[in-house]
Amino acid sequence: MNILVTGGAGYIGSHTVVELTKAGHVPIILDDFRNSRESVLDGLETILGSRPKTYVGDCTDADFVETVFLAEQIDGVIHFAALKAVGESIEKPLLYYRNNIGSLVTVLDATLRHGVKAFVFSSSATVYGEPDSLPIKETDPRKPATSPYGNTKQIGEDILRDTTLASAGSLRSIALRYFNPIGAHESGTIGELPLGIPNNLVPYLTQTAAGLRERLTIFGDDYETADGTCIRDYIHVVDLARAHIAALDHLFSSETDQPAYDVYNVGTGHGTSVAELVETFERETGVKVPHAIGPRRHGDISSCYANADKIRRTLGWSAEIPLSQALTDSWRWQQNITA
Ligand code: NAD
Ligand code: UDP
Repeated sequence: MNILVTGGAGYIGSHTVVELTKAGHVPIILDDFRNSRESVLDGLETILGSRPKTYVGDCTDADFVETVFLAEQIDGVIHFAALKAVGESIEKPLLYYRNNIGSLVTVLDATLRHGVKAFVFSSSATVYGEPDSLPIKETDPRKPATSPYGNTKQIGEDILRDTTLASAGSLRSIALRYFNPIGAHESGTIGELPLGIPNNLVPYLTQTAAGLRERLTIFGDDYETADGTCIRDYIHVVDLARAHIAALDHLFSSETDQPAYDVYNVGTGHGTSVAELVETFERETGVKVPHAIGPRRHGDISSCYANADKIRRTLGWSAEIPLSQALTDSWRWQQNITA
């Protein structure tokens, strides 16, 4: 199948391009590199042996998106393209609503008009907010978003659901709610490329280990968890990429009793504390990471991890790569980009 991958030069998109190719699909990247670099295509060429077909442009530009749909026989779409910095979204809400909602509406509109049957959307565990119980199930309520970024994921899910249901069977779609993606391709040739100071734990940790940052601050050790630090569900980006292939396979399958639109958690089902993650990194890499306890970060929730039963049962997917490998893969990637 020819699969349009919007945001395919980004962190999760680039790993999905690799897994799509390995599964026998033909990925077609659409990205304007606003949060990625063209050198990602070199990394992909190294892994795949050839350069994936790439259209450089903006997903909110309907004319541009139309030219891509006219030029290619697209069978399915994976829509990653979005801005993702929570703090920036609070400062610049319209930037986020325009880009994240605008790109979804534009790409979805072309998807429908061109009769494309399958659409996978990048949602996020952030839609659950502070959960009432753990592990989090898909049937648990979504909580009011605490940032415009989080709101774009809730609105995005609703747009996709309504559009799918109104298409009267022409479109089937899945929203994947990602927990915390980490890690990099084992070759060390593609990975996360945070621009500026990283907000996320693992890139901050690997940059500290590489000597680029003085010390990692652990945001709070007074949470109601075993060691007082926050708990998250860290999932290897290659496992996450494979979940997209499982979602597409399901959408392309002929089972008609499945809902036209559905949501799935994509996590390991295991929670890891910040302190445990730092310890695991140090043990697995043999590298000490200077760190100190700091105050809580505003807006952080204490614990968040997935119940991953639904995706295992229905899509036959489950996470396979252990945290130890995710951290050594992140470290290999960090060393390659620091060198
Ligand atoms: P990323 O920034 O690495 O990748 C996104 C890509 O989309 C970038 O290459 C960027 O240049 C491109 N892009 C953005 N807007 C565009 C536009 N209008 N036109 C063309 N290209 C555009 O981010 P990522 O971590 O790979 O995230 C991918 C998706 O997953 C996003 O929708 C994000 O919100 C979602 N998500 C990410 C995480 C995470 O922790 N990384 C967690 C949950 C959900
Ligand atoms: N965190 C931390 N120090 C950092 C960055 C993050 O202690 O420099 C913690 C943060 O408080 C959270 C966890 O690491 O508990 C994961 O944070 P991240 O920003 O990676 O993902 P989130 O789950 O917040 O989206």
